[in-house]
Amino acid sequence: MGEFVQRRKDLWQRVRAQNVDAFLLVNVEGSDQPNLRYLTGFTGTFGVLILTAQEAVFLTDPRYTEQARAQTDLAVEEVRGRWIPQVMERLRLLGAKRVGIGNTRVTLHLFEELKKAGEGLEFVPLTAPVEELRRIKSAQEIQKIREALELTEAGLQWVLKNVRPGQTEREVALDLEFWYRKEGADDVAFDLIVAGGPRTSRPHHRAGPEKLRAGDLVLFDIGVRLDGYCADLTRVVALGRPSAKALETYKVVREANRAGIEAVRAGASGKEVDAAARRVIEEAGLGELFGHGLGHGVGLEVHEGPRLSPASEDTLLPGMVVTVEPGVYFPGELGVRIEDVVVVEENGARVLSSFPKDELLLLPRR
Ligand code: ZN
Ligand code: ZN
Repeated sequence: MGEFVQRRKDLWQRVRAQNVDAFLLVNVEGSDQPNLRYLTGFTGTFGVLILTAQEAVFLTDPRYTEQARAQTDLAVEEVRGRWIPQVMERLRLLGAKRVGIGNTRVTLHLFEELKKAGEGLEFVPLTAPVEELRRIKSAQEIQKIREALELTEAGLQWVLKNVRPGQTEREVALDLEFWYRKEGADDVAFDLIVAGGPRTSRPHHRAGPEKLRAGDLVLFDIGVRLDGYCADLTRVVALGRPSAKALETYKVVREANRAGIEAVRAGASGKEVDAAARRVIEEAGLGELFGHGLGHGVGLEVHEGPRLSPASEDTLLPGMVVTVEPGVYFPGELGVRIEDVVVVEENGARVLSSFPKDELLLLPRR
């Protein structure tokens, strides 16, 4: 529980600098689940957190009262009926005047509703204060991400023993998802990507009714959510003999992945790390075929800050956890991406994923 107290303290330090006397976080129908979970441990879809210099107040409705009491270290107050007037009343009772509110998860509609009901209160939009805190992971969070990756990799090992030509992408993806759920995953962290043959050239292909064929490359971009934390891993395998072009492309991407990981260290910019990997692909004459950024933060959400990309303005700090995922995509023909998850350390990267990648894996294994 101590970690939640500390996080709320850190958040308060951050927001009080904006001259507010309260901070309001609203999670309605799951609208701000990751941030509320980060600050309280609560996993339900409706909860409101109010922070002031002295107090932390948690409100939920009767669907979640019992759960909230079990999950959080806070005194839980129950709202019945319309919650907005009750939350406004609570803010006034706390003596709040200027109320900070994160600007990433509140819809314009909700913001207008709060203003309408919040007579005497001024709402001050703040830029992603909780997300900023979440960028730097504790040792415990890093361990959770590692465990999510371990389960993700075990599933990939399992599915690669069974995958064969004639199966559809959807079958393979669902088999894998079922396996993950059975093995204890909360959920998959995103719709698992299983792409065969020419569909590997679509970076975010959705597993569909198409059949895998002998000679296809098969791209797996997969990850579970385990105890709230996400994994994100991409590997490409060959179902039978791959083409020379596939082997050549694999080598370039593997080299780019290596160069990207090598460039990760505290103090490096998201732009520099992206450039280190991109250079390898450009030097192979394939720069035009790498259309996305190199990587992103991973944590309670599968995509969070910081970003590694040509447009990134982020600087890496120790404890950040990011993906390194260069790719090369020949439209309608073939694509290769290799994605790992690494922790930023003072002098380099510690790689959390461990699934083999040095050679293009040929299936079935003999
Ligand atoms: Zn991925
Ligand atoms: Zn990713």
